[in-house]
Amino acid sequence: MFQKILIANRGEIACRVIDTARKLGLRTVAVYSDADRGARHVAMADEAVHIGGPAPRDSYLRGDAIIRAALDTGAQAIHPGYGFLSENPDFVDAVAAAGLIFIGPSASAIRKMGLKDAAKALMEQAGVPVVPGYHGENQDPDHLARQADQIGYPVLIKAVAGGGGKGMRLVEHNRDFAAALQSAQGEAATAFGNPAVLIEKYIQQPRHIEVQVFGDGSRAVHLFERDCSLQRRHQKVIEEAPAPGMTPEMRAAMGAAAVRAAEAINYSGAGTIEFIVDGRDGLRADGFWFMEMNTRLQVEHPVTELITGVDLVEWQLRVASGESLPARQEDLTINGHAFEARLYAEDVPAGFLPATGTLAHLKFPDHARVETGVRPGDTISPWYDPMIAKIVTHGATRAIALRELESALVDTEVAGSVTNVDFLIALTRHEGFGKGEVDTGLIARDLDALVKASEPDPRAKALAVLGLAGLDDPMIRGGVTLWQPLRRTISWEGGEAVLEVLGPGTARVTLDGTPHQIGYEGGRWWVDGSPRRSRIVNHAAGTSVFGGRSLTLVPLDPLARGGDETGGGLTLSPMPGLVKAVFVESGQEVVAGDRLAILEAMKMEHTLTAARDGRVAEVLARAGDQVEAGAPLIRLEEEDG
Ligand code: ADP
Ligand code: ADP
Ligand code: MG
Repeated sequence: MFQKILIANRGEIACRVIDTARKLGLRTVAVYSDADRGARHVAMADEAVHIGGPAPRDSYLRGDAIIRAALDTGAQAIHPGYGFLSENPDFVDAVAAAGLIFIGPSASAIRKMGLKDAAKALMEQAGVPVVPGYHGENQDPDHLARQADQIGYPVLIKAVAGGGGKGMRLVEHNRDFAAALQSAQGEAATAFGNPAVLIEKYIQQPRHIEVQVFGDGSRAVHLFERDCSLQRRHQKVIEEAPAPGMTPEMRAAMGAAAVRAAEAINYSGAGTIEFIVDGRDGLRADGFWFMEMNTRLQVEHPVTELITGVDLVEWQLRVASGESLPARQEDLTINGHAFEARLYAEDVPAGFLPATGTLAHLKFPDHARVETGVRPGDTISPWYDPMIAKIVTHGATRAIALRELESALVDTEVAGSVTNVDFLIALTRHEGFGKGEVDTGLIARDLDALVKASEPDPRAKALAVLGLAGLDDPMIRGGVTLWQPLRRTISWEGGEAVLEVLGPGTARVTLDGTPHQIGYEGGRWWVDGSPRRSRIVNHAAGTSVFGGRSLTLVPLDPLARGGDETGGGLTLSPMPGLVKAVFVESGQEVVAGDRLAILEAMKMEHTLTAARDGRVAEVLARAGDQVEAGAPLIRLEEEDG
């Protein structure tokens, strides 16, 4: 076993790897960018080396700086985590050339799986079922159109070098094929420097089921499947293991195919074979097809760990240091059911816009496994993936594990940035999901209802008003401080309410003309006659109410008033990204809410809208521009007066 390893990553995954390394008695070296000087992974490691600026290309993607840090600190091996350099074969070669060990597969295995077309051809040879389609070299548009006709519509065009759902187009009719092909190739060329595409049969109502594999370079075992069908725009939101409705026959067939795939490339370390499954009438042993292989530890690996009892990072460290596979296939069994929810700093009602902020208050449930890279007071910066934590639960049955997930999310408290926690809670309460009726279209179909069910609720707001007035604690103690007026107006950023103290333990809050009766009894809050799981928390950024449909009220700060000198007249880029489109030109009249531009960042497109009515004075960015966070994009003329 190694004595010291370097972790070439940040955030929750760096912390996750350090946890296991420490458990095994290894010393750890962290690397960090300017933006991460005070980050949790830096504090957790035995040593930390600064490797550059906040942009990934200036730090976490600088293989040379990372290898130098490993050599300088005497680390023997490098764990890449996921993302960044984890699937970069040139980095793997450079690590070996420096006399260090890469904790992961060989460069050649990564290269073989790096392009989706070559990977599919290889898997076909190995006898692994692949999605029917065309993955040849001929990229002539007419040829591809004929292939699409032969496959039969609907078809999916995919960038062979693709990832993160980019360069993918669903085409329903052959008359739309040419235009979709052109835009997919354009996006692929920009994003991956490779315009080549493949064409696949589009599976209707598909499920995404993937198999965890682990190899030692010659042999491989599988650690069963994960169902990642709960996706929004091809991005996983909640994952689980095992897959609901899985039959022993299909599990055996998928597991065997995944092991064949891994052994075909002499795979070493942890990897995932992603399959698309036609789940329209139940799971069938002949109804799954290879999509791609991810040659690294996957974000959702904890659900597999919880059902198998295996520490996958421990296995990675042991196999990379030369030990043989820690278990035989027959030693591995499934125990219960597990879920993982990805908690993001994002504004769900605003179209899942990534958010940033300083976490004025942060508390995780103690009855769930929580993987996180942040602590209270830490900042979610615009530079990296805005994931705050992964909340992972385990139970004897799927129903128990799901109730555990719901309750863990209800007990999660984050203030200082908006999050998707209430959207995740709404998902755990979704009827079809509860029954295990999952497919990749579930979220899109029910999006409006899910978003609505996760919006803040006036009754939670009424409680927040009490907290903002400083009355939550005196109420709990059964008496109110009598020197305070019995009836007063409470204001915060964006609203106000009338608060009346009716007696010990009771109050009335009138919001938008609607009175809400508040009481505290039996250890919990009651609003309008119903008990709630709400908690009122006062913190540096204001008052929050947690416990489902959470919200934060920010007190009015007389000194900060008028801070927006432009009065909403300047639209800034909320994060570093690529300007995809600009819809206005100077001189044009706009009204509040009009689309001004589209920014692509964090693998998503975000629509920027006008904050007020006005006339465009200046357009400061063009489609195709790469912009930093805070870059001015569009300026409106000053308002009169
Ligand atoms: P996995 O395939 O391991 O489940 P994903 O497919 O969700 O993970 O993501 C693949 C990679 O993209 C990961 O390395 C992750 O760091 C990165 N990633 C995932 N979500 C985001 C996001 N919202 N913004 C930026 N990067 C992301
Ligand atoms: P990426 O590299 O972006 O992860 P994948 O090939 O893994 O691309 O596909 C991402 C997602 O797109 C899948 O999880 C699934 O939801 C959907 N998808 C991919 N291929 C198909 C297909 N042939 N039919 C239907 N949906 C598909
Ligand atoms: Mg994928």
